[in-house]
Amino acid sequence: MSVMRSAQGLSALRDAGNGIVFTSDLGEYPRETYVKVRYGERNTDPMDKVLKSDAEWRAQLSDMAYKVTRKHGTERAGTYEDFPKEPGTYMCVCCGAPLFDQGAKFESGTGWPSFYQPVDADMVGETVDRSFFMKRTEVHCNRCDAHLGHVFPDGPQPTGLRYCINGVSLEFEPEA
Ligand SMILES: [Zn+2]
Repeated sequence: MSVMRSAQGLSALRDAGNGIVFTSDLGEYPRETYVKVRYGERNTDPMDKVLKSDAEWRAQLSDMAYKVTRKHGTERAGTYEDFPKEPGTYMCVCCGAPLFDQGAKFESGTGWPSFYQPVDADMVGETVDRSFFMKRTEVHCNRCDAHLGHVFPDGPQPTGLRYCINGVSLEFEPEA
């Protein structure tokens, strides 16, 4: 998984704090530009991707997981409040990519699992979502394009971000 870029400013962004920070010493970086530069090429690289047909996903996943991850659905709040509290990693239910660490999970009170940062910013992609007359930032698994949820700028420190994730799109794996 190589994301080294020579473009000026991007390395500064990358070093600014686990890829989460959207400003650099060059000034503030527009989020869309950042996302495009950062993820645009990766998204077209078949070597890194898990590509399956709609029928394959439907056969592999539960009805709810299929609706949420492949059809941009949203589970009802409070559906997944029984994740273990022990140390571990939340993986993509579709492809097993490690997405969020237990240590970055926090109680948001929304009824959806919430995290302040992904395990690896390269693994969680973003797109601007204009559905429902709102402008939100959608987040997905960069390896298989599974829709996960949205990210909002009202999270706790150290990032100030709130990744609001559908629990059905995650699989918890306890630390070995
Ligand atoms: Zn995935």
